[in-house]
Amino acid sequence: MNVRAPKGTADMLPPVARAWEYMTRTAQELFARYGYEPVYTPLFEHTDVFVRSIGEATDIVSKEMYTFEDRGGRSITLRPEGTASVVRAAIEHNMVPTGSSAKIYYSGPMFRYERPQKGRMRQFWQIGLEALGMPEPSVDAEVIAVLMEFYERIGIPRENMRLLVNSMGDAFCRPPYRDKIADYIRDHADSLCEECVRRAASNPLRAFDCKNPGCREVMSTAPLLRDELCPECEEHYGAVKSYLDALGIAYEEDPSLVRGLDYYTRTVFEVQADAGLGSQNAIGGGGRYDRLMEEFGGPATPGLGFALGFERTLLALEAAGVEIPSHPIAEVYVARVDSSVALRAFEIAASLRSAGIASELDHQARSLKSQFKQADRLGARLTVIVGPEELTVGEATVRDMLTKSETRVAIDALPAHVMEMLGA
Ligand code: AMP
Repeated sequence: MNVRAPKGTADMLPPVARAWEYMTRTAQELFARYGYEPVYTPLFEHTDVFVRSIGEATDIVSKEMYTFEDRGGRSITLRPEGTASVVRAAIEHNMVPTGSSAKIYYSGPMFRYERPQKGRMRQFWQIGLEALGMPEPSVDAEVIAVLMEFYERIGIPRENMRLLVNSMGDAFCRPPYRDKIADYIRDHADSLCEECVRRAASNPLRAFDCKNPGCREVMSTAPLLRDELCPECEEHYGAVKSYLDALGIAYEEDPSLVRGLDYYTRTVFEVQADAGLGSQNAIGGGGRYDRLMEEFGGPATPGLGFALGFERTLLALEAAGVEIPSHPIAEVYVARVDSSVALRAFEIAASLRSAGIASELDHQARSLKSQFKQADRLGARLTVIVGPEELTVGEATVRDMLTKSETRVAIDALPAHVMEMLGA
């Protein structure tokens, strides 16, 4: 049997899993402060959910989805991102009745059949949120503010990040602009890569994302949507920027930021981190999708959100030298002098755990010396030594693992005593 995890996936071993939990905990606390509630949707959906929302001509739908037929003959896809599922669930459960709003967040694994490299996986983890039912530009600024606050809270210094913003227009001003870019691509077909030329018909704006230096040069002089926004989009974009200014959030306008999903309208944004990530330097991003719910057959409901990638955020944290706070596996280790006291040692550990103290004990009849070693390995501050002699008078010895000083304590008083010594 092959014991290696499939290409593009990784086991989350304790240090990384702890970092994931730390990030989700930080997100839960922060998002709650902004009124967001958790939602868990299935890891797979009917394929249509993603094709209809993300768009047939996108990289995700055209070549990156894990799609298969289930035993009942349905076309099923492992979710490549979270928004489509959340919007599907919001419609199914009527979470945003007309005139109301909903604030939702999610976290979990996503699946894309991409070429794996540093910071790019086939199963990767995202945390994201969606604000549904609110067309106002202040919501765009608030969503961006939550994202930036999240990164700062977990410890990425602000100066290590760039916040890019742009407006992608709406159903009025984007289609004519798309045609214009398609013409521009055709006019410059000789200097562009095959893929960009092919995209002229299906998804011309993606040419702005092409990494090919020749394409970049050609696209650097292409007409910009910023210059062709309709007055409503122009006003919305201007207001978003004013709100960001009011919050003191620094951003750079990037008129070529188009992001790869079809459903975005108006505001889009991306956060890049300087983390030796090369081209995979986007640690999070998102945007507004005012027509998505309607396209799904739901009521016309505006929305926007972001998703941040765990793996790349972790690389950015490592680059900034941030240590993930971790708790000792055991605060207290319960050691036993010999196996005659095994049952009492077991009870003592249980009473400490009931009192809320992380405790570990020896199950393996190790020597006292190796029990102390194990206590140190687990990070225990104290060891409770249970011996037959002390037990006869209802006591045990508490050893401070740093100073090595020992005190005899009545077993009944142990939890309270230990808690005091731990300064809890
Ligand atoms: P997207 O859904 O493409 O807007 O991605 C949002 C965030 O998810 C990105 O900024 C990345 O941090 C992360 N991400 C996207 N694709 C991958 C991937 N294949 N591997 C790791 N992280 C990813």
